[in-house]
Amino acid sequence: MMAQYLEIKEAHPDALLFYRMGDFYEMFFEDAVNAAEALDIALTKRGKHNGEDIPMCGVPVHSAEGYLLTLIRKGFRVAVCEQMESPAEAKKRGSKSVVKRDVVRLVTPGTLTEDALLEARRHNFLAAYAEVRDEAALAWADISTGAFHVMPLTSVRLSPELARLAPSELIVADGVQDKLTEPVMDLGISLTPVGRASFDSTAAEKRICGLFHVGALDAFGNFGRAEVSAMGALIGYLELTQKGKLPLLQTPLKESEDRVVQIDAATRRNLELTRSLSGGRAGSLLSVIDRTVTPGGARLLEQRLSSPSRNLDVIHARLDAVSFVAEDSLIATDLRDALRKTPDLDRALSRLSLDRGGPRDLAAIRNGLTQAAAIAELCSDQELPVLLATALQNLTGFDDLLNLLNEALVAEPPLMARDGGFIAPGYDGELDEARTLRDEGRSVIAGFQQKYAENTGITSLKIKHNNVLGYFIETTATHAEKMLNPPFSETYIHRQTTANQVRFTTVELSEIETRILNAGNLALEVEKRLYQRLSGAILDLAARLNQAARGLAELDLTTALADLARGENWSRPQVDTSRAFDIQGGRHPVVEHALRQQSGDAFIANDCELSAETGAAIWLLTGPNMAGKSTFLRQNALIALLAQMGSYVPAEQAHIGLVSQLFSRVGASDDLARGRSTFMVEMVETAAILNQADDRALVILDEIGRGTATYDGLSIAWATLEHLHAANQCRALFATHYHELTALAGNLGGVENATVAVKEWEGEVIFLHEVHKGAADRSYGVQVAQLAGLPASVVERARIVLDQLEKTEREGGKQKALIDDLPLFSAAAPMPPPVVKASPVTDMLDNVLPDELTPREALDLIYKLKEAA
Ligand code: ADP
Repeated sequence: MMAQYLEIKEAHPDALLFYRMGDFYEMFFEDAVNAAEALDIALTKRGKHNGEDIPMCGVPVHSAEGYLLTLIRKGFRVAVCEQMESPAEAKKRGSKSVVKRDVVRLVTPGTLTEDALLEARRHNFLAAYAEVRDEAALAWADISTGAFHVMPLTSVRLSPELARLAPSELIVADGVQDKLTEPVMDLGISLTPVGRASFDSTAAEKRICGLFHVGALDAFGNFGRAEVSAMGALIGYLELTQKGKLPLLQTPLKESEDRVVQIDAATRRNLELTRSLSGGRAGSLLSVIDRTVTPGGARLLEQRLSSPSRNLDVIHARLDAVSFVAEDSLIATDLRDALRKTPDLDRALSRLSLDRGGPRDLAAIRNGLTQAAAIAELCSDQELPVLLATALQNLTGFDDLLNLLNEALVAEPPLMARDGGFIAPGYDGELDEARTLRDEGRSVIAGFQQKYAENTGITSLKIKHNNVLGYFIETTATHAEKMLNPPFSETYIHRQTTANQVRFTTVELSEIETRILNAGNLALEVEKRLYQRLSGAILDLAARLNQAARGLAELDLTTALADLARGENWSRPQVDTSRAFDIQGGRHPVVEHALRQQSGDAFIANDCELSAETGAAIWLLTGPNMAGKSTFLRQNALIALLAQMGSYVPAEQAHIGLVSQLFSRVGASDDLARGRSTFMVEMVETAAILNQADDRALVILDEIGRGTATYDGLSIAWATLEHLHAANQCRALFATHYHELTALAGNLGGVENATVAVKEWEGEVIFLHEVHKGAADRSYGVQVAQLAGLPASVVERARIVLDQLEKTEREGGKQKALIDDLPLFSAAAPMPPPVVKASPVTDMLDNVLPDELTPREALDLIYKLKEAA
């Protein structure tokens, strides 16, 4: 066995080997040590190898999924090695034969299909990045739903695209990974280097054509070498990890860079679109707007929010659909009720295709199609917008399959096919008969007992069962005499005599016994056969079922967005090719939500007008800390994204000319893991914006230059604003605490000042959160500090320093002179003297006058001090 283990392990050096032994997966050697630590399970030993104990640990097969999940999350890959025959079969080949085993699957983060290992409401993408000469491309697939995409890209776009897709695993050719580690590390993607041969584009083309049974790739579109290479590598990796069983991938969909709004990784993170800064879903925009009721709808929502569109037709079609549902609440309620009962068709289908499914997946398809038919029926007499009409069309035409599944399956099937019990009675004659025999075995036997009692006249005769004899007839020794002699001895065959009893059987009884035993096995076998047949019938329609799933997801998303729009009082944005950015009464959905939950305070809606036919349109926003500047900046970016993903927006009115790129530089976070200071991060992000933003970009900049000395910071902010205005010519919101900048508005045509209003009352600030045109008069930093609970003495002192500073500045004085004028600690309460423990050393030092020591005396003193210490 160890020889077999070592041979299999040698073929999978990078993975933990789950070696199947009966009801356990066992791990040995290094694997055992690593797994025991990662899983916090006992490490034991078993046998010896080269004279040393072999470390071992194991997990039960029935609970293996949980352990697998932990290992995958901790960055391991697992090779699952199964027994390919029963021990009995192995024995037949020879008494010393080891059961045949083989790796049936390599489990990696990007190739999961089990519900327990996946997040239902998120995609799980596996991506491959290829470079061929000066072309590059990214291909990605979700094998749990069959989605398959590819896009050519320039290498600078790799990191933003990875941030958009958030794949769990990325395959690259050996050597390429060194270039990628930084963005990939940041995004928490597991990186898998594979041999360069896997990326060979000629072999790749053959592989793709083979998978989709086509002669040439042209059928799916025009692909460059890098795209073909990326797709080929991805399929190759699936073949490797699934051991030849390929998932149902949909034909590849080519995407282009200009299809969606470009959002870089930092902006995505800062705006907390799908994840909050703390990493979870809670607190993100996604968590606040998600009203979907199916996993497929939730996945589509995340995808749309990550990839807002730049295509007006697409945006309008989606908005039309949302409007339609939002205006007809009756149909919305019915649709959502039906959708709520719809299971995850995509994932059931994918498990069936990989032969990893069970009866519940068959039932999921049946239940999904039942709801699909009901939904189609609901809308049959409606005049629908195109998007909904197409979605609904995809839901019909499954009558035959649905009838088949309805007839064949019980209402609530068990999990495992091997336990049987999922085929409905009345569907298959052979199965019914087998089950009757199995279930009614006892009554058949009872019937026999009665017959034999009448036949022999021995009323006390019984039929019993034990594991040695099986079924037998039992009678007392007294009565047995009769049965041991003719004519009864012809029918009743003696089996055993015990102290008080004699046991018999009959030909009939042993026949029925065999049949009862076999019936159970037969029933299971028939069910297994039927399972394969039903699964086959489903997979024959896989492509159309995928379409239906997509239709259901679209309906779910549309009704969810309509529900949100109605419930939160959002409005339909006007999106066109102008360069307008006119938001009336805009709100920040996440802050509004948080206020409602925490304090019940109302969110103050604000307008934003950045419209300009040509050139730049920039608002320079000043105002104290905590006034609501960041909130205002972000809310406008989010409104633009929501509009372009095809959703209503949190505003009374919104007119948005297509935005092509969204950039943000907000918040300051040290990136110590990468050894960059706050200021460095800020400058890197600002550089990216100034180098890339075009005249359709929307840029939000918060407190540029804060991380350095005042004059440096002011100068950088100044120059940045001028560059945005003259070179990028984009629409931008620029929040700053440098009031000096407000003077620029007079000189730069497209720049306007705006400020967040505050009121001062009895020396305290009151935040009104209202944004007005005009510049802030001052920054109220001291008042805000007071609110934050700085000691009163410090606040008081700060006020005095501030007054003096302002006065000196007005009078054109020098700061140095000012500092000399302000006596130290004059305003603060005297601090208690520091408590110093007396020691011989301090005593000696008390009397020393350093300036009066000669070098020689000083040296002597050091020796004395050392002695005394
Ligand atoms: P700043 O960027 O000016 O320091 P923030 O945008 O971080 O201020 O806002 C501070 C807090 O003020 C927010 O957390 C929120 O609770 C509240 N706030 C901001 N804008 C509004 C608003 N429009 N209506 C109500 N409360 C708001």
